Amino acid sequence: MHTLANERKNHMIKVDRFVFNPFQENTYLVSDETGECIIIDPGCFNDDEEKELDDFITGHKLKIVGHVLTHCHIDHILGMAHIFHTYGIRPVMHKESLETLHNAADHGKLFGIEMTEIIEPVTFLNEGDLIKFGHAQLEIKYTPGHVDGHICLISHQSGFIIAGDVLFQGSIGRTDLPTGNFKTLEASIKTKLYTLPDDYIVYPGHGPHTFIGSEKQSNPFVRG
Ligand SMILES: [Zn+2]
Repeated sequence: MHTLANERKNHMIKVDRFVFNPFQENTYLVSDETGECIIIDPGCFNDDEEKELDDFITGHKLKIVGHVLTHCHIDHILGMAHIFHTYGIRPVMHKESLETLHNAADHGKLFGIEMTEIIEPVTFLNEGDLIKFGHAQLEIKYTPGHVDGHICLISHQSGFIIAGDVLFQGSIGRTDLPTGNFKTLEASIKTKLYTLPDDYIVYPGHGPHTFIGSEKQSNPFVRG
């Protein structure tokens, strides 16, 4: 577990990152000073990883009030049933993610990973929606190209993006999986992410964080 605290405009939103499952996927807890938090892309898939997450939530007296999926590739949803059964919170996602969600078990078999239970969403997120918890809010951007239904979450209060598998430090999401498309991904990055301020922190679905400005300058796949 790595703590990635950041402060901006005297309002503190805390981002905590866990690296879970064989895909080394980043699971994020985003909380503010009230202790309310949302979990994004829970990837925990064995008892040790579930315990690490639960102990952190209990130890920091956090209350999970939201469960958001940037997209439904298996590495980002392996912990969805644990979150639902432990905290009673159903996942929310973009409606275009449903097909990937329903194919997750087959997708997992390709990698020798068993996905035993899918939790169905009952509400969906769209471009421009705001997710509110504590005194914080995150704005939804629709960012397809890696896969249909992909969303990013943006904090304008604290200047960061939870970017899923759209943009990484020095890389971008792969586009060779079903519904992936490079031109669509490039457009998502250029119109939805590179239009944000250079000092916004990018928290990706894999690997370390980066900044909008540095990716615009030196990302080898999509330049700003
Ligand atoms: Zn993915």
